[in-house]
Amino acid sequence: MSQQHRDLIERDRKVTFHASTHLRDFAHGDAAGRVITGGKGIHIVDKDGREFIDGFAGLYCVNIGYGRTEVAEAIYQQALELSYYHTYVGHSNEPQIALSEKIIELAGPGMSKVYYGLGGSDANETQLKIVRYYNNVLGRPQKKKVISRQRGYHGSGLATGSLTGLKAFHDQFDLPLAGILHTEAPYYYHRAAEQEGMSEREFSQYCAKKLEEMILAEGPDTVAAFIGEPVLGTGGIVPPPEGYWEAIQAVLAKYDVLLIADEVVCGFGRIGADFGSHFYGIKPDLITVAKGLTSAYQPLSGVIVGDRVWSVLEQGTAEYGPIGHGWTYSGHALGCAAALANLAIIEREGLTQNAAETGAYLQQQMQAAFGDHPIVGNVRGVGMLAALEFSVDPAKRKHFDAAHKVGARMSAAALDENLIARAMPQGDILGFAPPLVATRTEVDEIVARAERAVNKVTDQLVREGAVKASMSVG
Ligand SMILES: *Cc1c(COP(=O)(O)O)cnc(C)c1O
Repeated sequence: MSQQHRDLIERDRKVTFHASTHLRDFAHGDAAGRVITGGKGIHIVDKDGREFIDGFAGLYCVNIGYGRTEVAEAIYQQALELSYYHTYVGHSNEPQIALSEKIIELAGPGMSKVYYGLGGSDANETQLKIVRYYNNVLGRPQKKKVISRQRGYHGSGLATGSLTGLKAFHDQFDLPLAGILHTEAPYYYHRAAEQEGMSEREFSQYCAKKLEEMILAEGPDTVAAFIGEPVLGTGGIVPPPEGYWEAIQAVLAKYDVLLIADEVVCGFGRIGADFGSHFYGIKPDLITVAKGLTSAYQPLSGVIVGDRVWSVLEQGTAEYGPIGHGWTYSGHALGCAAALANLAIIEREGLTQNAAETGAYLQQQMQAAFGDHPIVGNVRGVGMLAALEFSVDPAKRKHFDAAHKVGARMSAAALDENLIARAMPQGDILGFAPPLVATRTEVDEIVARAERAVNKVTDQLVREGAVKASMSVG
């Protein structure tokens, strides 16, 4: 690492509080830092000019890839005209109008209006407020509980971190808040010993039954909404088992529970459809979008409100006056301009279709490389989302002892190969979510680098006696 790069990191250590970072180790120089200075296509470059394949598209958000000057140009042109004016009391800007039309068109029948925020967390905060307001207007003040899933990811605020079903987001923060519950994760590979013999369909029925039991135990008149990602993301990149959404939706309809589809990762092409909901036949009342909406060229999120909820919101303001909800930056003109340019690129370059086709190739190549690997228990994914789950004994789906830190070591070994693949936070899972512009040749390179990294760590584990010598791949 160059002196210049080291100096920058030293300055950073003294003054920046980093997200999801070991604060003590980073501040005191015991954890690595890196300054990213540029990127093009699926690659990013650091201060020393070292180039990495970004196999996770930032945080599964840079879907059109890095360095798209067309988006920069759109932001610049809009900034010359008008960077900002608030959107309270009916004020608007031209990019916001065009973007809302585009989103409603993509979301399809039944979707009515879009409310804008800056990130997925604040959008889900808006969802929670809408759900409360909705039931108050309908005269059901006790119908307020929200059910999420274990391993769901919906943000990192107090309420949205409560929706998130991951331990690291709750512990030491006194979360989840009251009124937010977590039901069974649709994680077939992690099914318990009692569910061993179940087919995927049977496991989906089991998940739906657990949900119904929870609703009945709480009292259906107290349960307002259910929130889920079409594909579990941060919780492990887990596509739902067969028949899952159909079974879940039947339960929600039975007890008049609203469905919020958190499409922050799946929305705008990632799994080869405009929305994960379209892919899985989900009919949500409310949709959350962020990440892929702008490919992270600007911060922007949205809540797409369906007809059924919208009419109640109208009724509410007729009764109580203007809605008491708004962010200073709602509908920010630069964010909307970036989103329009991003969605234009996705459409023109057929990136959703590429996510379907090159994504299928990614799944196939991952299976070919890791399907029979001695310490890979599960290879899974859909479209441009993939994951490897490591196991000390794949035949028995037995997890590694956490002390071996297998997931983190796999990700570090990938980095040595100049490949970014993300160690998912709960379990030994290596996640992949390349930009949607990735070609087959680039997919081949991602898989080849991942294979070298996984084999290197496997041999280290053999030498350490953590896995049997017969598992050596060297
Ligand atoms: C990233 C993410 C969020 C939170 O978005 P932020 O922009 O980080 O606040 C919410 N839901 C899902 C599914 C996400 O992946």
